[in-house]
Amino acid sequence: MKKKKILIGTNNKGKLKEIKDLLPKRLVSISTSKFNLKSPAENGQSFKENSIIKSRYFSKKTNLICIADDSGLEIDLLKKKPGIYSARWAGKNQNFNKAIKRVFKELSKKDKNWKIKRIRARFVCALSLSHLNKVIACVSGKVEGTITDKPKGKNGFGYDPIFIPLKKKKTFGEMKYYQKYKMDHRYQAFKKIKKFL
Ligand code: IMP
Repeated sequence: MKKKKILIGTNNKGKLKEIKDLLPKRLVSISTSKFNLKSPAENGQSFKENSIIKSRYFSKKTNLICIADDSGLEIDLLKKKPGIYSARWAGKNQNFNKAIKRVFKELSKKDKNWKIKRIRARFVCALSLSHLNKVIACVSGKVEGTITDKPKGKNGFGYDPIFIPLKKKKTFGEMKYYQKYKMDHRYQAFKKIKKFL
């Protein structure tokens, strides 16, 4: 029997690797790079809306069932920012040194003593599965934690070097890849969407 194909609707290499590793091996996963597709404008108001925009868009472009994620970091002291703007804080070149500097600057504006406090935050991920315009499933997952006062670790991507999950001592940037991807927000969302695959 022919294996079922699924398109992973992201142009972000870090996400692509995690989603690929989470998908059951009975599926053939295909990445957007095979079709040379640009990402759509993310003009939704929530992670779920943006995730659906992506999975529908990439599915319509390829006629394949598509799984897409929209994710980001919510910092309580910053009223849940950068949130759905997490990628945008890194600018056109997706420079996360710049995004992390902005996080520190915004925290300093809110509280000059933030470095000696526990800054609560979470990574959130909305995963959706669509075929053309039809949304088959849309779920979300999160991982709670705190923000460090300086970046630590060279692993992972995005905001990983400044996020320590609750009950752990290392940032995601200091953890080994296989430790992080089995506890993060994408993994939590993935557990809920598995039954639709
Ligand atoms: P978007 O979902 O394409 O809007 O991008 C979300 C942004 O949040 C990305 O640019 C990531 O850098 C950041 N982000 C999402 N998930 C993670 C993660 O697991 N670790 C670090 N940063 C993340």
